[in-house]
Amino acid sequence: MINDLEKYKPRFFEELSKIGVGIDEKKFSMLCRYYEMVVEKNEVMNLTAITEPADFVVKHFLDSAYVAVLTDLSGKRIIDVGTGAGFPGMVLKILFPDMEIVLLDSLRKRVDFLKNVITELGLSGIEAIHGRAEELGQDENFRESFDICVSRAVSDLPVLSELCIPFVKVGGEFVAYKSVEASDEISRAQKAIETFGGKFKDVKSFSLSHPETGEKFARDFVIISKVEFTPSKYPRRPGIPGKKPIII
Ligand code: SAM
Repeated sequence: MINDLEKYKPRFFEELSKIGVGIDEKKFSMLCRYYEMVVEKNEVMNLTAITEPADFVVKHFLDSAYVAVLTDLSGKRIIDVGTGAGFPGMVLKILFPDMEIVLLDSLRKRVDFLKNVITELGLSGIEAIHGRAEELGQDENFRESFDICVSRAVSDLPVLSELCIPFVKVGGEFVAYKSVEASDEISRAQKAIETFGGKFKDVKSFSLSHPETGEKFARDFVIISKVEFTPSKYPRRPGIPGKKPIII
């Protein structure tokens, strides 16, 4: 199976070098092993719909890595909220070994899978935690203790802001991976972002193409700065942010 990814290695290395992300044989073989483990586990539990090698390289590996264009990740303390099978957090940890990262997910089976990946790859400075963002965001060991919070494909921005902004230190950033057309979501999330101590900073768009079909894959990154402490009543109890989102 490693050979499946080998075919796309030159293109992968080239794309990473364009965005200034270093890769070497050791990191690449770790990504290959991670890919194997995802595909193997995917047969018995739902981890991802994307398993075809070229798609995996573009939509999981490169997409996860692209956040490095926006912000320097080395040496930072990062949390990935709703990491699922480890996207983007596990990929970022492999590419930036000196970061400290927490992978958070509310589905125990996915977290157990991630713990196996951590052991198999011998990673340190990474923790996979089973829990809800609403609860961990009220825990003093995690609340306002991260330089950066990232999150991909978890929920709409008004809800996601409540789940993610409380984790970020004042002066840090929350970066949401969004599909294109994020502008509507951004306007609906303005009140939520401000309520939780954030300030909309920027939205950056990127486009990647499938190495064989040429199919375009677009990504918007919404960047929110943490400018004030989050009021202590947020995040609210599990489920409440989704049921009663703060919308203008
Ligand atoms: N980020 C991954 C990706 O892009 O492939 C997974 C996306 S998956 C669609 C959403 C994940 O968010 C699920 O694994 C789910 O268990 C997790 N999740 C949803 N709500 C959550 C919450 N309140 N706290 C922690 N995890 C949550």
